[in-house]
Amino acid sequence: KRRIGVLTSGGDAPGMNGAVRAVVRMAIHSDCEAYAVFEGYEGLVNGGNMIRQLHWEDVRGWLSRGGTLIGSARCMAFRERAGRLRAAKNMVLRGIDALVVCGGDGSLTGADVFRAEWPGLLEELIKVGELTAEQVEPYKQLNIVGLVGSIDNDMSGTDATIGCYSSLTRICDAIDDVFDTAFSHQRGFVVEVMGRHCGWLALMSAISTGADWLFIPEMPPKDGWEDEMCNVITKNRKERGKRRTIVIVAEGAQDRQLNKISSSTIKDILTQRLGLDTRTTVLGHTQRGGAACAYDRWLSTLQGVEAVRAVLEMNADSPSPVITIRENKIMRTPLMDAVKETQEVTQKIHDRDFAGAMVRRDAEFKE
Ligand code: ADP
Repeated sequence: KRRIGVLTSGGDAPGMNGAVRAVVRMAIHSDCEAYAVFEGYEGLVNGGNMIRQLHWEDVRGWLSRGGTLIGSARCMAFRERAGRLRAAKNMVLRGIDALVVCGGDGSLTGADVFRAEWPGLLEELIKVGELTAEQVEPYKQLNIVGLVGSIDNDMSGTDATIGCYSSLTRICDAIDDVFDTAFSHQRGFVVEVMGRHCGWLALMSAISTGADWLFIPEMPPKDGWEDEMCNVITKNRKERGKRRTIVIVAEGAQDRQLNKISSSTIKDILTQRLGLDTRTTVLGHTQRGGAACAYDRWLSTLQGVEAVRAVLEMNADSPSPVITIRENKIMRTPLMDAVKETQEVTQKIHDRDFAGAMVRRDAEFKE
């Protein structure tokens, strides 16, 4: 039977377990065997009992479990060719020649590098006597399929990443809780949410909670924003009778000179200029935790199924695909196109080409 491996890598995201469950069950349904690689690429490099077969019932109940049950890690060894050589040997010894990788753009880049090197790695393993030509013969081609697991929704080419709506839901719940105390005491709250290069969580939570003001990395405020923010907040409080004030800031927010805009900077402005009793709340890792929301359970299941289909349909010439969702349809896109677009947007932010970054993020992803 054909053996398909699945691993989760990079930052964990709710819904990763749903993806692993779907890959395992779809593989079995397609008359293949499913193998979980534990601790991301660490498991691939180390082999042994870090690569284990999973059966249908092993993934029972995983849809409602948070984090990733097969573990995730940042693996330095896999960044080096020597590490990938060990990974290739472990895969051949296990008879695994297909890998579904659920992670962010770093993890998917690593997977694509691995695939490109695969024939050379096998040759080297034969040359140094670690494997024989007969052992390698059935595994000449490595198939890689990507699934995007990320709470930030920071991958081009897909409308949503696995985990982003769970995280958004948790942020909204937390802000609702803060609202209660803000209302009671007529306070201001500055809430810092995750997003170093991508303000999706901040933007969506600001819209979803009716926040007073928002800072995201892609759109630094115009100079003089301090006055504008204070004017809007004063108007909301004095003229519109709003008792609570909420400002949301993404962790990567910056001004036009690329100075960080932190929650404490904003707090000081509100306190000093408006005399507003202001508190800061940094949501931190609670944004990653907890069970996946219904959308992420659905998305991870459909994408996991599609990933196995893609594995079975690939041939030597097809580029590694990443499974996406666009306008509610589960689709495939060349993995490296999506990664490249994503990295270009991040570069534009570094280059202060903010308009470019926004346009690229919004634009329809080119086929
Ligand atoms: P994310 O997948 O969330 O973007 P990272 O960028 O930390 O997270 O990548 C996760 C892991 O993927 C790294 O620890 C490393 O093992 C592997 N990886 C990332 N980039 C590469 C690369 N260019 N070559 C090989 N492996 C890589």
